[in-house]
Amino acid sequence: MSSVQSKGKALVTGASSGIGAIYAERLAARGFDLLLVARDEARLQSAATRLRAEHGIDVEVLKADLTLKADLVAVEQRLRSDPSISLLLNNAGVAAEGPLAGADLDQLERMIQLNVVAVTRLASAAAASFSAAGRGAIINLASVVALIPERFNATYSASKAYVLSLSQSLNAELSGSGVQVQAVLPGVTRTEIWERSGIDGSAIPAEMVMEAGEMVDAALSGFDQGELICIPSLPDAADWDGFVTARHALAPNLSRNVAAARYK
Ligand code: NAP
Repeated sequence: MSSVQSKGKALVTGASSGIGAIYAERLAARGFDLLLVARDEARLQSAATRLRAEHGIDVEVLKADLTLKADLVAVEQRLRSDPSISLLLNNAGVAAEGPLAGADLDQLERMIQLNVVAVTRLASAAAASFSAAGRGAIINLASVVALIPERFNATYSASKAYVLSLSQSLNAELSGSGVQVQAVLPGVTRTEIWERSGIDGSAIPAEMVMEAGEMVDAALSGFDQGELICIPSLPDAADWDGFVTARHALAPNLSRNVAAARYK
């Protein structure tokens, strides 16, 4: 049974660990019912049992490997057909390490499937359902590596730049629809992602690593403030605004009928 204070249902991908598990807790505390998605059903069920008991909300578990088309389409269909879903947290993601030359391309393809294709299909389904209802929110987990691709694995950084760009464009498309969009760009956050992708997290300087709870609380504060882009550790939001202003200043000259003088 739904709790009295229910704000609708949040569909959280990658809810079995790390950032997604913390979001599930925080959203439960805010009165959302939950639809938890990941591959590890046992972990999801144990989180569901605890969250039901602690918060008196409805929690459903949906086991899905979002790199598999059939599983992904099932989650997508759920977003289209369940009017109680009011928030999509597009969080499931994996990282990769090492240079592109010589990479395990099948592994990279699975990463793109999860970090790019699944995020896109679920955001599209949510955008259609939520805008028809005139309400709802889509939160996409990008990363600060979208802004500093030279410092990290090429494909992971590019996948997160895709999520950033998708969120900015989707936000423009959904303007006036009543649907809120946010892209969250965490820096290094203490979760399982590092060991899962074979990266030695202990080699990262401690002053660069944020606890997942602090990261998610900051992102939700940014969400409450209506921020489209949240960079949890950035001290001065004006630095991001300046970056966006510089980007927009290029706009009048990005498409013209003559090549620049230096090319002639
Ligand atoms: P994590 O602890 O490894 O959690 C990843 C989640 O994604 C798990 O719940 C995992 O669940 C799920 N997942 C992985 N493969 C999946 C698949 N094929 N199908 C469905 N679910 C799958 O990592 P995290 O750090 O919390 O990452 C969450 C998001 O934050 C990711 O998008 C990541 O890129 C982003 N991010 C993380 C950091 C960081 O430093 N930690 C920084 C910037 C951005 P199962 O294994 O049960 O499927």
